[in-house]
This record gives sequence, structure tokens and C-alpha cells, in this order.
Amino acid sequence: MLEVKGYKDLLKKENLRNTKHRNSILEVIEQCGQPITADSIYLKLKEQGVSISLSTVYRVLDTLIGKGLVVKTSVTDENKGLYEINSMEHKHHLLCVKCRKMLSVDGCPLEDYERELEQKLGFSIKGHRLEMFGLCDKCKDGDT
Ligand SMILES: [Zn+2]
Ligand SMILES: [Zn+2]
Repeated sequence: MLEVKGYKDLLKKENLRNTKHRNSILEVIEQCGQPITADSIYLKLKEQGVSISLSTVYRVLDTLIGKGLVVKTSVTDENKGLYEINSMEHKHHLLCVKCRKMLSVDGCPLEDYERELEQKLGFSIKGHRLEMFGLCDKCKDGDT
């Protein structure tokens, strides 16, 4: 019986730790205000003195994605996923290829186009991805 109790306690403890990690990770992503890699999340947590491993960050991110709290918006050149709070709001991003700054653009220019395509092709469109990249305000001047 004692063994069972110990096991339950362990589970409870583990759950608590998971919840704590979940909240810390959500906080980091939220404060960042732009899509962020798991590596950056990990580094920021370390800065805050949270003891967590990179693999736990990935695991918790997967859980958060599964719960619909976080979305993986895109992938960097180094093939790293960028994570963002799932705002349920349809958004597009502008990525600076030089400094990797990412801007979110409100609104979507494709809604009318989608409707047009649906009518023309009899297709029921459920979504789309659109990413724009180039040089930001600061990088564009320094480039020449
Ligand atoms: Zn830039
Ligand atoms: Zn759109």
C-alpha cells in the first residue's frame, strides 16, 4: 500500500512540475510577442532560474500544441520550429532574412481571393499559409 501511495505522490508531484513548466513556457512565449524557437524559450527559462531541460521544453510544447494553446507557425532556415501563442486570430508574418526579426501583420488580404477560387473551382478552402520575407526597416539600409 505504501508503494502505491508513493507512486501517486510521485505522479502528483510530476503533474505539478508539468503545470509549472507549462505556465513558465506560455509566459515566455507571450512576453516575447513574436514567434520563438524552443532553444530561445529554453535560454530564457534558464535566465529566469527555471530548472528545465531542452527536451522537456520540446515535450511541453508538444502538449501545449495538442491542447491548442500554442501553434508552430513556421520553420527557420536551420529547420527549427517557431512557436507562438494560439490567438485563434488569423495572421500573417513578415520575416527579415538578415536579423530574423518577425512582424505580425493584422488582417488577411486573401479572403476575397479564397472566395473567388471557391466559386471558380468548386473547392472548399479551409485555410492557407502565407509568409513574406525580405529586409526590415533597419537591415534594408545597411545592405548597400
Ligand atoms: Zn532586419
Ligand atoms: Zn490569410
